Amino acid sequence: MAEVRLIPCLSDNYAVLVHEGDETVLVDAPEAGPIRAALDETGWRLTTVLITHHHTDHVQAIDDVKGDATVVGPAGEADRIRGLDRTIADGETFTLGPLTVQAIQTPGHTSAPLSYVMPEEGIAFTADTLFVMGCGRLFEGDAATMWRSLQALRAALPDDTAIYCGHEYTLTNARYAHERLPNDAAVAERLKVVEAARERGEPTVPTTMAAERSTNPFLRADEPAVADALGMAGADPIEVFAELRRGRDNF
Ligand code: ZN
Ligand code: FE
Repeated sequence: MAEVRLIPCLSDNYAVLVHEGDETVLVDAPEAGPIRAALDETGWRLTTVLITHHHTDHVQAIDDVKGDATVVGPAGEADRIRGLDRTIADGETFTLGPLTVQAIQTPGHTSAPLSYVMPEEGIAFTADTLFVMGCGRLFEGDAATMWRSLQALRAALPDDTAIYCGHEYTLTNARYAHERLPNDAAVAERLKVVEAARERGEPTVPTTMAAERSTNPFLRADEPAVADALGMAGADPIEVFAELRRGRDNF
């Protein structure tokens, strides 16, 4: 099994290192200092940088940290990411040393970001698409697009998958979920757990797909109980999702 190391960067970003054998993969490059410190501490030599999407807070430290690593990123955003050595298309499966990686294009936050899944390791990197109890803002896609992307992740990822996302937004997400679904016991319970973790200064990442399936309102837009709570019984899941996202934008 690969070793995984979460690296807090900037004010609320996460980078992740995945290490197995001679392979060390960095997922996203928000800030050089903490990434270098993690590499120094572990003694791991970076072999691959995996980029999820073109936003500055995910790519700005590529040059500073890459050394002789190969920089890999989404084909659909290659014209907006400087320094990619290799591009990956939607649905592509590829290997990085002993690691097998599957790419799922999950548009909505940006036009063609990739979520990366390492099925044999039971881990996935969903960047700014699927957050703990939340989802990314719709900068380059509409609600229908993002809802489709979340459904794709929901269908592809087994319950026990450990999900690493791009930001620590969980406390706000949990408070928002509880406000919109005040009678949902699982959400209320998870809000308490999240509050306690953040009070101790602990990250809430990784989450699991099972936890998200049961407490992430954005993954549950097609659940009658969620539509009911929003006063939208019988509404199209896309409309429910759009209402949840609108509310979160203004929360
Ligand atoms: Zn982003
Ligand atoms: Fe971001």
